[in-house]
Amino acid sequence: MKYCRFLLDGHVCYGTVEERDGEFWIVRLALAPDEDMAFHLAHLRGESQSIKFEPMPLSTAQLLPPVTPSKIVCVGRNYRDHAKELGNEVPAEPLLFFKPPSSLLAPGGVVQMLPASARVDFEGELALVIGRRASRLKPDADWRAYVRGYTVANDVTARDLQKKDGQWTRAKGFDTFCPVGPIVSDEVDPEAGLTVETRVNGELRQHGSTTDFIFSIPALLAYITAAITLEPGDLLLTGTPAGVGPLAAGDRVEVAIGGLGVLSNSFAQAAE
Ligand code: MG
Repeated sequence: MKYCRFLLDGHVCYGTVEERDGEFWIVRLALAPDEDMAFHLAHLRGESQSIKFEPMPLSTAQLLPPVTPSKIVCVGRNYRDHAKELGNEVPAEPLLFFKPPSSLLAPGGVVQMLPASARVDFEGELALVIGRRASRLKPDADWRAYVRGYTVANDVTARDLQKKDGQWTRAKGFDTFCPVGPIVSDEVDPEAGLTVETRVNGELRQHGSTTDFIFSIPALLAYITAAITLEPGDLLLTGTPAGVGPLAAGDRVEVAIGGLGVLSNSFAQAAE
């Protein structure tokens, strides 16, 4: 199943997405995923009953981030080539960090580059969406039972502050530094290999495959949930392939993953 989250006449809705002639369409309103905070809020407001809907191309919808995570867990340096390009060792254990939910940005949204950083990089990544509370999973657990689906993310990073601060909270956590979407799908298989491609102003800059992960998805889930309970709707960003680089105001970044569509965002210099 594929779904998105979008605004329709000012109402937050979920929609079932299907492919028609090579294009994604929102074909009907969908129930929000269980235990999703946005669903509970929409339900409380009684918004879910009275909305009229006609199928529409996904590209014409006012999309929102497709998930409302309680936390966004990220893995650094999960591709050898990327660890090498920044002069880092290949890690012996997964390197984890968080992005705050306040960094989420919708597909088509504008990433705000603030004066606090002089170098902002893109990082195209596959993201997992958790579907079931996961705690202390074993490496041989049926991990797919805990995954609702997959989506596309851009782990936007203030590279100068990542080096300067000694830890990554500020560098990774600016408002708008986590574009996600456009859809969530459980119809793709990262273990079989998904191509992650990033284009800046149309030029191909990253081309990787999820078969090149240093740490597999079950290994990551076991490692993370040994310490942290993952809740439904939580995001796991799985790391970026080689090719990262700085952006300038006016740039457009597109991250494409087969079967998951294209996440497109522009970058702008925000005022002081
Ligand atoms: Mg990253």
